[in-house]
Amino acid sequence: MSHALDVLRSRFGYDEFRFQQQQIIDNLIEGRDALVLMPTGGGKSLCYQIPAILREGVGIVISPLIALMQDQVDALAQNGLSAAFLNSTQTQEQQQDVRRRLRNNDIDLLYVAPERALGDDFLQLLAECRIALFAIDEAHCVSQWGHDFRPDYRKLTRLHEQFPGVPRIALTATADQRTLGEIEQQLQLQDAQRFVHSFDRPNIFYRVTQGDNNRQRLWSFIQANHATDAGIVYCLSRKKVEETAKWLSDKGRLALPYHAGLDKHTRAEHQRMFLQQEGVIIVATIAFGMGIDKPDVRFVAHLNLPKNLESYYQETGRAGRDGEPANAWMAYGLQDIIMLRQMMAQSDADEQFKRVLQHKMEAMLGFCEQTGCRRQTLLAYFGEILPEPCGNCDNCVEPPQTWDATEAAQMALSCVYRTGQRFGVNYVIDVLMGNTRDRILQNQHDQLSTFGIGDLDQNEWRSLFRQLIALGYLYADIDNYGALRMTRECKQLLNGSMQLLLRKFEKPIRTVKPAATKASRELRAADTPLFEALRLHRKQLAQEQGVPPYVILHDKTLAAICEHRPDSVEALSLIPGIGERKLELYGDDLIRITLEHPVEDIADHSDSLPA
Ligand code: ADP
Ligand code: ZN
Repeated sequence: MSHALDVLRSRFGYDEFRFQQQQIIDNLIEGRDALVLMPTGGGKSLCYQIPAILREGVGIVISPLIALMQDQVDALAQNGLSAAFLNSTQTQEQQQDVRRRLRNNDIDLLYVAPERALGDDFLQLLAECRIALFAIDEAHCVSQWGHDFRPDYRKLTRLHEQFPGVPRIALTATADQRTLGEIEQQLQLQDAQRFVHSFDRPNIFYRVTQGDNNRQRLWSFIQANHATDAGIVYCLSRKKVEETAKWLSDKGRLALPYHAGLDKHTRAEHQRMFLQQEGVIIVATIAFGMGIDKPDVRFVAHLNLPKNLESYYQETGRAGRDGEPANAWMAYGLQDIIMLRQMMAQSDADEQFKRVLQHKMEAMLGFCEQTGCRRQTLLAYFGEILPEPCGNCDNCVEPPQTWDATEAAQMALSCVYRTGQRFGVNYVIDVLMGNTRDRILQNQHDQLSTFGIGDLDQNEWRSLFRQLIALGYLYADIDNYGALRMTRECKQLLNGSMQLLLRKFEKPIRTVKPAATKASRELRAADTPLFEALRLHRKQLAQEQGVPPYVILHDKTLAAICEHRPDSVEALSLIPGIGERKLELYGDDLIRITLEHPVEDIADHSDSLPA
């Protein structure tokens, strides 16, 4: 057995390596550099943790996520490993202690923030130690195109210059080809072997819902699918965060706001509750999430359109890190598109930058409006081909209906034109529907040939306009009260040289079907009394040790105990996630609790069987 596999089994309690973990680890152990792109939850940490254990010296992990360091160190300690971090949250004494342990070669893994890693003090300290490797986590932070840009990341080559013999591994979960190239270049990793793992998160079900009344739709979705689960709801503004959190609280859920306008203490407290309690909903601006490693977030909902597919992928990726079924749900409507387009138009970035932003935004809108498999589109955006539709997204499960909207679109555009491109969506729809509002009469728009011309209802017109704007035929000018303007694209539509197929207006769904029926079935192991008993025990342990429950044991491990009912130390050692250390610490209690909860009677269906 290879040493790496031995460590995986004895220390981490897992049977086999996943994906390319083994190759990445071997590569590093042999002293070569690696660039790793793996989706969230893919298992990036082990790729540097195991080589750091097996190579002589300390593994230095550069991470921008200070809030996460404590958890990571605690989790390693649970597996009997010696880890530490150095950051600004520590007292002088604590830092002294870490330095002492480092000099004594008493630490396997040390986590530091980039600005700390680049300080002269720290480099001096490193010069006195043996270094096993440098791991640069969240490596996409070197990219100035991304929203996580950290200028310090660009200086990290200094480590390499000072310690040229130490192998490096850069890891990220979000990077398109361009960003990957940028990482390689900025970090001088041209000679590193690339390990690109599929971006697919097969356990996440993607759903984009169109229309208005987002909040009510959100509530139906949560009620139907996640009545007791933890989740994250993203909103664009602080105000909307506050309102939505209150609204969900009034409905009886524990929902906490999180945004940059809250004081530090409140934010930390809300984050703590989300991590340590079960079933908490966080309602947040995008300020929340970087560094949330909670494995059992069962849903991520967007009440606003994300800026681009990278953000969408990253934010939804916080769901289901444990590999269990999870939902990514979005509510999206006319206002979102208008706002996003407006933001683009107003940006004072240079032309090249604008073009990149524009391209990204079009891809985002395209994703929302498309009628084919969402996963195929999402993966294609990251340069990956999924040969077949996935069968685990809204469009695959309930293919949307399309209709020939050419004629209706011509009416709509013509009406925009005849009213002088001076009015917003609501006004134009009123004209199309023949509503005799005062303003319409004053403007004599009841005299137009497009007055009362169509036979669509209000919702159908709104849906049509949303798609016309999303597809770039119309542009809503916010500075002029959202006045609709036609773009050059309209020409082909108006002269009849093309056909326009659009998504049919969806009637608001009252109860969303459980997103993944398979998912719900799989989760049943978690409903047994044994699971509850194990969870309670885990909670006590977590409280005693002052760590989140998942640092002690993952839900997945508890579910495996429910399934396999280990009645001996040997049997328990086979459960994934239980290594030697946890066996020693918790084994007896876990077995005792399991024995106290014999298998429940399985519902008797024998009477329905043929005799
Ligand atoms: P990432 O950093 O890529 O988001 P993590 O390193 O946190 O992912 O790993 C995600 C989860 O998968 C963790 O619970 C980890 O223990 C588990 N894991 C990693 N590698 C394996 C493996 N080979 N077998 C089973 N579970 C694994
Ligand atoms: Zn699909």
